[in-house]
Amino acid sequence: MMQVHIGQSILEIVEGDITRQDTDAIVNAANPSLRGGGGVDGAIHRAGGPKILEECLKIGGCPTGEARLTTGGNLMARYVIHTVGPVYKDGAHGEPQLLASCYRESLKLASANGIKTVAFPSISTGAYGYPINNAARLALQTVKEYLAEHPEITLARFVLFGKAAYEAYEEALKGV
Ligand code: ADP
Repeated sequence: MMQVHIGQSILEIVEGDITRQDTDAIVNAANPSLRGGGGVDGAIHRAGGPKILEECLKIGGCPTGEARLTTGGNLMARYVIHTVGPVYKDGAHGEPQLLASCYRESLKLASANGIKTVAFPSISTGAYGYPINNAARLALQTVKEYLAEHPEITLARFVLFGKAAYEAYEEALKGV
């Protein structure tokens, strides 16, 4: 675990499972259909139960770089923020801008809904193939900038799945 203070807020990284977080909201690395999938998405729907998918189907989808809110079903978290990361091609197809947008739009939804604590997975670095070192730097920098201007978010936690992902974020956090 590693923590830094950004203004009145905390930015932290932990190794763990996003579905087991007790933050007000957890963020899902969803796909544009919002119909569920593998990785984080599958884990959240399995742990949270069918109510989340029902709400997602009602919403109908989400463009890449945007975010949508549902309740948390059976999860400890009251809300799930579903955001759609970019599929990584070569980094020259808007991927960094879209990935930064995922983090910003998720936090904007949190601010607008009274959500004070948010747990993020490492968006786009699984099935979507974003190189983790670059993703980690961009993710932490983007969230740091948001927290600096939004004290209403008291905690942003990155929950990294496995030691390798944790170490990539640890290295990146030393640089922000
Ligand atoms: P994407 O399609 O955006 O790449 P994935 O869900 O495939 O999303 O992977 C995103 C990251 O989340 C990967 O680094 C993966 O190892 C990690 N991950 C998978 N399951 C979990 C989980 N239960 N909690 C936290 N992170 C997870």
